[in-house]
Amino acid sequence: MAAQVASLKRVDEVFDRMWRAMDNHQDEVLVLNNNYQPLNITNVRRAVSLLFLGKAETIQTNSKTFHSERVALPMPTVVRLNHYVRRPMPQLHVTRKSIFTRDAHSCQYCGATKVALTLDHVIPKDKGGHTDWDNLVCCCTKCNNLKGNRSPHEAGMSLLRRPRRPKFIPYISYTKFLAALKNPRWKQYLSPYGDG
Ligand SMILES: [Zn+2]
Repeated sequence: MAAQVASLKRVDEVFDRMWRAMDNHQDEVLVLNNNYQPLNITNVRRAVSLLFLGKAETIQTNSKTFHSERVALPMPTVVRLNHYVRRPMPQLHVTRKSIFTRDAHSCQYCGATKVALTLDHVIPKDKGGHTDWDNLVCCCTKCNNLKGNRSPHEAGMSLLRRPRRPKFIPYISYTKFLAALKNPRWKQYLSPYGDG
């Protein structure tokens, strides 16, 4: 353990020198578990430390390269851990934020974005509707007022798509995962594990 801490410290010292000359501190790296499950999104510094310590291998790089006196390393964009990390599967909870994220902050009746939004129970609670992924949608206040305490059918409204629990392995936060899916370099590694 002490040796590991010491080697981490050395790696840190090397990087401190290298980093000052670089402009890409903010680059992010996708970390895959040994079985290729997306595990985390970290910064380049942390990812390169994993590579130097032999804890991970590079899966994908971009065109940038680290240069120092003794090191020239292609910049990783995806790394894979050399050991399988066992982590309990977290629950993806139904929250206002996760419903808004799933629905891309757009009203699920009229499609409006950048307007005042609220949560709508598709089937109202007092008519037996549950507070769950398949009965909650993001809704603009205008549509919400129009719909009132009625089902879409009763109100003569229809949903743009059927609400459902996202297909998703929530090691990475849902918001982060959806943002990361938009990165074309990561898409192939992320999309098998969730489509939002
Ligand atoms: Zn609306």
